[in-house]
Amino acid sequence: MSRAEKGLISEIQRYSIHDGPGIRTVVFVKGCPLRCQWCHNPESQRPVPELLYYPTKCSNFRKCLEICPLGALTEAGGKIQIDRSLCNNCGDCSQACPTGALKIVGEWMGLDPLLAKIKKDLPFYQTSGGGVTISGGEPASQPEFVAQLLRECQRNAIHTAIETCGYVKWEVLSHILNYTNLVLYDLKVMDPEKHKAFTGVSNELIVHNAQRLAQQRIPTIIRVPVVPGYTASNENLEAIARFAATLNSVEEIHLLPYHRLGEAKYQKLDREYKLEGIAPLREEELETLAHLVESYGFRVQIGG
Ligand code: SF4
Ligand code: SF4
Repeated sequence: MSRAEKGLISEIQRYSIHDGPGIRTVVFVKGCPLRCQWCHNPESQRPVPELLYYPTKCSNFRKCLEICPLGALTEAGGKIQIDRSLCNNCGDCSQACPTGALKIVGEWMGLDPLLAKIKKDLPFYQTSGGGVTISGGEPASQPEFVAQLLRECQRNAIHTAIETCGYVKWEVLSHILNYTNLVLYDLKVMDPEKHKAFTGVSNELIVHNAQRLAQQRIPTIIRVPVVPGYTASNENLEAIARFAATLNSVEEIHLLPYHRLGEAKYQKLDREYKLEGIAPLREEELETLAHLVESYGFRVQIGG
């Protein structure tokens, strides 16, 4: 594969203890082939930089209205309105905004500066058994850049993990796997029709890739978002556990409780949040589901 000069990164999170073992740096790449209705990272779905608007930070300074070369911004009721059909996400308004109310998410970063950031925390990785995790979005949406990044991390003795939705051509995923020590593999819904209704795609490729991944014998943790009314049924959790039991590289399943922290991001992107009003599960309900999955012989963790 040819050398990808830069990757589009939506966020870099240092000192994470939720996305693989030890203390980790999590690199969120931008671009995902799925549209999970519960996604709490909607800003990482589209493979382009995007403008976010934080009304609570807005001082109605109005400088942005003059700056926008495309006339995409107007003001109504003390708030800035973005005409997304005009906006090309150039970022000029965010540069002019003194309070950070307009912000571009998604930065093109070269391999070397990104690696330099990751290496800053080498002592933490070494003492905690941590490393780097590439999440997103979907790491395989930028396969060449991600493969190079993981390879360089391994060359620097940094443990590597990816969190993947699995909806990717096997040749692409397997290229990245060459430089991956641990896979966090998302399984959401086993029923193909429901999977399509909830995420926009069928799960056949995801299931098939999970089977091929198991043959690689790379340690794999299955991650399941537990979303009331969508994925959080006994039937679905048992179907996932039964399937995971056929994958010999899986010993552990993480149940990721649905939360509403991503809801505000939909407003900042002017997108509809379809799960409005859905309450997260109570702790006892999560524990019941965890025991159910445990009964299939897995170590189960609630949370990442
Ligand atoms: S990102 Fe560019 S085009 Fe979009 S509103 Fe701001 S200045 Fe206008
Ligand atoms: S796979 Fe992950 S990043 Fe992609 S839409 Fe679903 S929850 Fe969001």
